Amino acid sequence: MFQVSSEYSNINSYYFNHNTFINFAQQTTNNKQQTTNLKPETLNLTDTHTHLYSEEFDEDRDEMVQRAIQAGVYRMFVPSIDSTYTQKMYALEKQYPENVFLMMGLHPTYVKENYLEELAHVERQLASNKFYAVGEIGMDLFWDKTFLKEQQHAFQYQIQLAKKHKLGINIHCRDAFDEVFEVLEWEKATDLFGIFHCFTGDLDQAQKAISLGMKLGIGGVATFKNGKIDQFLHEIDLKNIVLETDSPYLAPVPHRGKRNESSYTLLVAQKLAEIYGLSVAEIAAITTENSKQIFGI
Ligand SMILES: [Zn+2]
Repeated sequence: MFQVSSEYSNINSYYFNHNTFINFAQQTTNNKQQTTNLKPETLNLTDTHTHLYSEEFDEDRDEMVQRAIQAGVYRMFVPSIDSTYTQKMYALEKQYPENVFLMMGLHPTYVKENYLEELAHVERQLASNKFYAVGEIGMDLFWDKTFLKEQQHAFQYQIQLAKKHKLGINIHCRDAFDEVFEVLEWEKATDLFGIFHCFTGDLDQAQKAISLGMKLGIGGVATFKNGKIDQFLHEIDLKNIVLETDSPYLAPVPHRGKRNESSYTLLVAQKLAEIYGLSVAEIAAITTENSKQIFGI
């Protein structure tokens, strides 16, 4: 029933039989209204993790956002890292109310001596503004283990904030799978859900993350020759996958090593289309539906 497109250079190659699409869409969503609104000629991609406020985009931010929209990336979810970017995030949301959606949280590599003040800032923002997840939060022991205990405390505290506000979480985990899973086990509950952003673990860790209520955020690493996750992704049900760029970092092939941007979500979708033997439009529709389960929009 599914066609595998081998030619992705032209956006027209994403089109496929209308009836096939509708049948497919009816199987993949329980929401009738959304089913009938899906347009086969339109890609609907969601970048679930993009640092649009980064200084890397100060010169050409609007062009970059427009390129993403043109590529079918209509929804861009923006994680917070610390309080210094909060006002810039609000300005972006105001400028692109249809396309930009904010998360709030303290990034683990920004957990330092003043982390309690930063957590208080996070808490104030969550109480006074609309956010779609708590993130990015988690643990990062790649650079520095000095604040390991504080990182773990900040992670757990922010999970509890997410539960209080009935939000999902967006997890950053680098060289810290055991420590992150330890906290997730403590907080395991029906109201614990979210995205394991930039997932780089193995199949066992992927299954463990899913069993703890997480979807896997898949980005440029899936296109890397030594990225490893492309080796087992086909064993993970697509319902557990969302797309992301983590721009300006981790650009997918053929832009590896250069600045990443949200329009490259399309390149990640193309890679998943190869892995799963589906069209890019199907990958886009399914992963966007998955993202709605986490963000509530
Ligand atoms: Zn990030």
